Amino acid sequence: MTTLAAALAAARAKLPASEARLLLGRVLDRPAAWLIAHDEWVLDAAALLSFASLVARRAGGEPVAYLVGNREFFGREFAVSSAVLIPRPETELLVEIALNTGVGVGSLCVPGNPLARREAESRVCRDRGQVTARILDLGTGSGCIAITLALEAGQAQVSAVDASAAALEVARKNAERLGAQLRLLQSDWFDELAGECFDLIVANPPYIAAADPHLAAGDLRYEPPAALCSGADGLDAIRRIIAAAPAHLAPGGQLWLEHGYDQAEAVRELLAAAGLLGIEQHRDLAGIVRVSGGRAK
Ligand code: GLN
Repeated sequence: MTTLAAALAAARAKLPASEARLLLGRVLDRPAAWLIAHDEWVLDAAALLSFASLVARRAGGEPVAYLVGNREFFGREFAVSSAVLIPRPETELLVEIALNTGVGVGSLCVPGNPLARREAESRVCRDRGQVTARILDLGTGSGCIAITLALEAGQAQVSAVDASAAALEVARKNAERLGAQLRLLQSDWFDELAGECFDLIVANPPYIAAADPHLAAGDLRYEPPAALCSGADGLDAIRRIIAAAPAHLAPGGQLWLEHGYDQAEAVRELLAAAGLLGIEQHRDLAGIVRVSGGRAK
């Protein structure tokens, strides 16, 4: 007879307690709080077997998020599969910056400059008589950025694109379960968005250099290479996005990108070369310059 407490204690030889609890919670379909309150619960043979298999897979390196099938981001749970990048805490910075732009958040949900306002007012939302801001998330993956923005910036029309149909399917399910309204479109960056303009464009593109040794360690080994790597210096996707962004930004519209720990200077130069103004860069919780952006004229 194995109690819940005994099963967790045995797993601790191989895994941190927090991970063991997440895996056992998955097996029993119970939240962590329930596990903590049910030390004496007796596990049946099937549950013990599934738990042992998950512990072994985790000990072999598979990411916890893929084993349990979800990851928390900005206070909500997102389903993930090996078709998508696992949401990272540092990407919450990109969401915070996007929300701080005010696009889609306030009653007048466009940047303050008069040109932008005039342009936006030509798109009055019929039923509410309000201006609706347009937000675009490039390479949406699980949809964690776009869905969070759709839920937090209630007056925005959110579009999200990804080149991968499998990723879009994950994003679609997340949007449905979390009750977010957004347009999902299969597109290689801007390719399917000819002629469309946005007030805010965000992206967490792949930005790791192809030969970076980190790719051979930890969770990265299991994540989709197309969501992680981008050419010899890791900047291929960022270069494409920044070069194409001005044609898709409304007047005064903003572009914000997550990038690698050593790419701040290169990204600043690319933003400037594309003619973006008011370039700003922000540090993540680890103190690394992680998100850069600017606005169109
Ligand atoms: N932040 C991720 C990492 O370094 C990379 C994600 C990305 O390339 N967008 O693990």
